[in-house]
Amino acid sequence: MRKTDNCTTCEIRLVEEGSVRFPCPKCGEEIGRCQACRVLGNLYECKCGFVGP
Ligand SMILES: [Zn+2]
Ligand SMILES: [Zn+2]
Repeated sequence: MRKTDNCTTCEIRLVEEGSVRFPCPKCGEEIGRCQACRVLGNLYECKCGFVGP
């Protein structure tokens, strides 16, 4: 399984502090979020179609 290296929303590389990875609540696929998207509250969309805050 490939590690998630990029933000799922904006695809920036997850190198900053404050970026997070967590499993999709629906399918378990790893979701990446950068700090900017967390702060802005951008929605993420998983490959499976799940959309979350
Ligand atoms: Zn992002
Ligand atoms: Zn999913």
